[in-house]
Amino acid sequence: MQPKWMRWAGACALACAITLPIGAQSSSTPTGGLTHGYTQTRYPVVLVHGLFGFDNIGPLEYFYGIPAALRQDGASVHVAQVSAANSTEVRGEQLLRQIKLILATTGAKKVNLMGHSHGAPTARYVASVRPDLVASVTSIGGVHKGAPLADEILKSFPPGTPHNVVVAGLASVAAGVLGVVSGGPILAQNALAAAHSLSTEGSLKFNQAHPWGVPVSACGEGAYKVRGVAYYSWSGAQPVTNLLDINDLRLAISAKAFNGAPNDGQVSTCSSRLGRVIRDNYKMNHLDEVNHVIGLVSWLETNPVTVFRQHANRLKNAGM
Ligand code: CA
Repeated sequence: MQPKWMRWAGACALACAITLPIGAQSSSTPTGGLTHGYTQTRYPVVLVHGLFGFDNIGPLEYFYGIPAALRQDGASVHVAQVSAANSTEVRGEQLLRQIKLILATTGAKKVNLMGHSHGAPTARYVASVRPDLVASVTSIGGVHKGAPLADEILKSFPPGTPHNVVVAGLASVAAGVLGVVSGGPILAQNALAAAHSLSTEGSLKFNQAHPWGVPVSACGEGAYKVRGVAYYSWSGAQPVTNLLDINDLRLAISAKAFNGAPNDGQVSTCSSRLGRVIRDNYKMNHLDEVNHVIGLVSWLETNPVTVFRQHANRLKNAGM
């Protein structure tokens, strides 16, 4: 049994911050001195945000500096906006509608989906119900076998209790505010449904219905390609990477919920694995994986923006 302070820290961590501290768009992106066409994938790239995420708030991006870095050398990049907090299935249906619009406007036949955190199972949902529209699913710090913080929240605030109603209501309101300030359509928010989807029980139930790409062993690799869809993943495994980033303190606390298992502060290494595992131990925490906050990441690791660019090149070379 964890002490109460740790449960509250966990609740705060999931509610406040899988979420992102926000920063202005990067004025420069690493190019690595590569030539034009390096990121020119055959199919458009669609980035899918996680819990309490957004596409952008004015010039502020969830995938900080990443769309521009991918576009710079040829990729067509689209940033989806789905409910900041809702079930994987509801978010997945919203994503599917946006993908159909992207295909209609670009004339492309398929998309390459890249999802962070809850965005990864959201992308998997679309690939499961419409594999004909998806060339690849890439999971970045994705939650595929549950997140202990979601388990802890459901345990600490059992559904049906007054505490749960209050906490879930406040979180849903916060998600709604995020949705409004980030513009776009008003989307339904349901923080309790999000917690269920991200829990171990909810994730395993989702995997039964949508198993494609998920490792069958506890911490292995999944199918590289199934039903015409290629599956990839990467994740970080270092909760504290840059002491200038105030979130590292919070991630150091939430990392204790993993009882020593490798994790990025929010998601365990094993839970993050999907399809072909490119790497699962970058010196990155959950926010570093999408280059937050404002590029405050480890100085001893490949820049996350570069990792996205390398992956776009990988997809391009694979004919996707
Ligand atoms: Ca950081």
